[in-house]
Amino acid sequence: MTIKIKQFVLLKRPVGVPVESNFSLKTETISGDLKENELHLRGIYYSVDPYMRGRMNGAKSYVAPFALNEPISGAVIARVVESKKSGLITGDFVFGQLPWATEMVVDSSSVRKIDVQIGKASDYLGVLGMTGLTAYFGLLKIGQPISGETVVVSGAAGAVGTIVGQIAKMKGCKVIGIVGSGEKEKLLKDRFHFDGMINYKSKDDLVHLIKNACPNGVDVYFDNVGGEISDAVIQNMNFQGRIVLCGQISLYNSKEIPMGPRIQPILLTKSILMQGFIVSNFTEQFPEGLAELSKWVKEGKIEAIETIIEGFENLPKAFIDLFSGKNVGKMMVMAKDIAL
Ligand code: NAP
Repeated sequence: MTIKIKQFVLLKRPVGVPVESNFSLKTETISGDLKENELHLRGIYYSVDPYMRGRMNGAKSYVAPFALNEPISGAVIARVVESKKSGLITGDFVFGQLPWATEMVVDSSSVRKIDVQIGKASDYLGVLGMTGLTAYFGLLKIGQPISGETVVVSGAAGAVGTIVGQIAKMKGCKVIGIVGSGEKEKLLKDRFHFDGMINYKSKDDLVHLIKNACPNGVDVYFDNVGGEISDAVIQNMNFQGRIVLCGQISLYNSKEIPMGPRIQPILLTKSILMQGFIVSNFTEQFPEGLAELSKWVKEGKIEAIETIIEGFENLPKAFIDLFSGKNVGKMMVMAKDIAL
């Protein structure tokens, strides 16, 4: 076997919002026969996720930084072209943390087969993947919403936010979504039946907008964005409210340490729980979460929306576009040549 592949490497660490020149597209040749347990894969769907911005900095965090001049890696759905692993055959769909490469040879232990009877292949990057599980565990295990309570979610039209809102509605809550455009407000209202929407880019005072949308106060705040939006929600929290600290995308490109109001007096006097989490904290409970999410998708109780950008070469742009809100639902890139 001799194949020419394309792959994206991190050329320069971004300062502020990433730009396309931070990445470089390289051509490589892979040759040689597959060894026992190896797979030759072709990438089909490539996930772009906000957390990858943190990996582009040099500093160590809960995941190691990307190395310069090495391929970026992330969640990928691929198809098996050739297999030296029993139980996996040509055409099977697999999921793994794989390089941003058009094709790759990997050990079979680095991927798992996905069942495209349960959900479509791309669902495993979204509602049946990391973002769906994040919504499920963050909301239900930390937020613990009770029927009749008010749940506010920021980043509400995104991959995590749309699932959080739908689960909260299923639990009988009043759901208010915070988003960055009028089209996204309309999507939340018409498609997902949110009870209220707030456009954080409008000129009006956010604290008052939230107060008006939540006359009974906020019981659960699912925070995907941080910064001034979260400062305004926290002003409106109720006694014994819960803040689910899921993401802080508004701060990921900060060049200086972000400063904000001291929120501890509010947390103290209102006995508020504020808990950060990484979805992998719940790894042992993933089967439970996946079973529930798959059931809800099958029953039509949860709808997953996606923004799929065609063309492997658009991966850096799709990633960068997350920071200006170009996506609704799960953002991903689909390879053009997906035939085997
Ligand atoms: P997403 O919401 O699908 O996409 C990002 C969205 O963030 C954009 O569409 C944009 O929507 C909004 N945004 C971008 N810049 C913003 C800013 N400066 N201020 C306010 N909103 C901004 O992404 P996702 O995958 O669902 O992730 C959502 C959050 O959860 C991210 O912070 C991510 O890091 C976090 N996350 C955490 C975990 C975990 O384990 N804790 C797992 C997955 C994701 P608008 O048009 O509305 O601005």
